[in-house]
Amino acid sequence: MTADHITEIGNKEVPLKVSLFAWRLMHNRLPTTNNLVKRQILQPNAQLCVGGCGMMEDAKHLFFSCNFFGKLWYDIVEAKFLINFKDNKP
Ligand SMILES: [Zn+2]
Repeated sequence: MTADHITEIGNKEVPLKVSLFAWRLMHNRLPTTNNLVKRQILQPNAQLCVGGCGMMEDAKHLFFSCNFFGKLWYDIVEAKFLINFKDNKP
């Protein structure tokens, strides 16, 4: 994460919910099962990924290494592209 990325997160043109999500991701504040166990909201045996892959769920896993969510993110991006293409948006 560079200073430019941090500046962009605070950009007024970025929707607030996106800025908050980016901040929570950067500061490991997303409600992953790993974080919920650390905060004693979930039991220690509940750290596995909700995608059912059998790995421990943290932000890095959800966004970069989970087979289930990796495909989900790809499908979301592809669906967004198809919607924009259909509506002739860039
Ligand atoms: Zn997973």
